[in-house]
Amino acid sequence: MTAQLSSRLLYGILLLGIWIESVHAISEFTPVRVRDRIVIVAPHPDDEVLAASGLIQQAIAVGAKVKIIYLTNGDHNQAAYRRYTQRQQHPSFRPTQFALGEQRRVEASAAMQLLGLASKNLIFLGYPDWSTLRLWRDYWETDEVLFNNATGVDRVPYPEDFSYRHAYRSENITADLCATLRTFKPTRVFVTHPCDTHPDHRAAANFVQLALLELEAEGIRPELDFYIVHFGSWPATLNYHPTLPLEPPRTLRDDSDWQSLPLTPKQIQRKYQAILTNQTQVTDQRGLLTAFARTNELFATGQAPTVPLLPEHAELDWTKAAHLRALAVLPSESGYVTNSLAELPSSKTVVDLECIDFLRQDDDLVAQLNLKNLTGQRGNVRLLLFGYRQGTAFASLPKVQINITPDNRLNVQITHEGVEDPGVTLTNIDTRMILRIPLKLLGGTDIDHLFATAIAYFGAKIADDTAWHLLRISPN
Ligand SMILES: [Zn+2]
Repeated sequence: MTAQLSSRLLYGILLLGIWIESVHAISEFTPVRVRDRIVIVAPHPDDEVLAASGLIQQAIAVGAKVKIIYLTNGDHNQAAYRRYTQRQQHPSFRPTQFALGEQRRVEASAAMQLLGLASKNLIFLGYPDWSTLRLWRDYWETDEVLFNNATGVDRVPYPEDFSYRHAYRSENITADLCATLRTFKPTRVFVTHPCDTHPDHRAAANFVQLALLELEAEGIRPELDFYIVHFGSWPATLNYHPTLPLEPPRTLRDDSDWQSLPLTPKQIQRKYQAILTNQTQVTDQRGLLTAFARTNELFATGQAPTVPLLPEHAELDWTKAAHLRALAVLPSESGYVTNSLAELPSSKTVVDLECIDFLRQDDDLVAQLNLKNLTGQRGNVRLLLFGYRQGTAFASLPKVQINITPDNRLNVQITHEGVEDPGVTLTNIDTRMILRIPLKLLGGTDIDHLFATAIAYFGAKIADDTAWHLLRISPN
């Protein structure tokens, strides 16, 4: 064998290796079958079009049943809507604060009609746009109701919505999702990815995962997949390019098991038309929205990682831990598409949250927060932990917030009330902060799941976070 031939062979093997790796990284989407009952949960009217127009068309073509559940009517951006209506209507036209939500429902119905899905299959819950993550975080107490500044109401204002007059409370969202899913009994559910940077998209992932935990006991156990709409500057190429593929965001590629669903040219064209049907949205964001009409759609398998149980006196083995990586994009309270540290006053002084690892030892949850970029002073680092136990009302379980101040003092709150002597300990080792948290603080040693997020702050701004994740807790 000549040297040239062997190097060619080596090159070929190398190429094959890259090819095999890429094949493994994105697998083929499990085709929809005639018996499938598909639910797509969209935080806003248009998310279902962007993420799943091809899936919807293919499901209808094989004869499967499809329902779309809209968490909100997308009624937040009232100023942009006024600009839109001024261009469309007579200058004297004054839309009510509910007109945007009503119009987006009409647009969604038209888009779905175009894909072959009748309006009777669309369920609008009508919860407040841009506020559902706040609901998830802060509104589990029975007497607290969120007031939506954009519409000036504290309950669902749309008479045609499923949840009409239901107060803006987290328990109501959960109950309404459970009710709609229970009636339809889906075999496959699709919702936004937990790492999507839009707050409503994150909230939708949490509420749907919670509803599915609640329904598990009733024998309703659909397969769950995630789709992504907002992630920094993804997709990198804007505008309509019907021959380009859609790739997963680079930083999420290895964290999820991605599946790709190929679309035919006709399905892509129809998807493009359906996107344009959402006129109120296309006016401001045409480049981004039309970028989703590509040769394929992407879905990630939703599986909760398990927090393993270590023997009582064993050394903490972090290689076994459930691992949540922080995002490379920055969510912020005001906007959702920042993706660099440039916005913050001085990136050198910001502590970056690299990842968080969870172990269970005896009746404690042990969390390791890994920080990097410790050259400057850090702000507060906060861990939010919501325990879940089947058979107990989730709202009644403690919503725990552990704050670690820059000088390593701990402040523990349950549903905004300070806790005296919570029994939480903190150990600092180099760039790691290890918290030992009694499970009884989270609702008992028998909690079986946990919703968790860690957030690093720079002053009042969020500098980094891990997004919310659902974890399965190993029993003792
Ligand atoms: Zn959305």
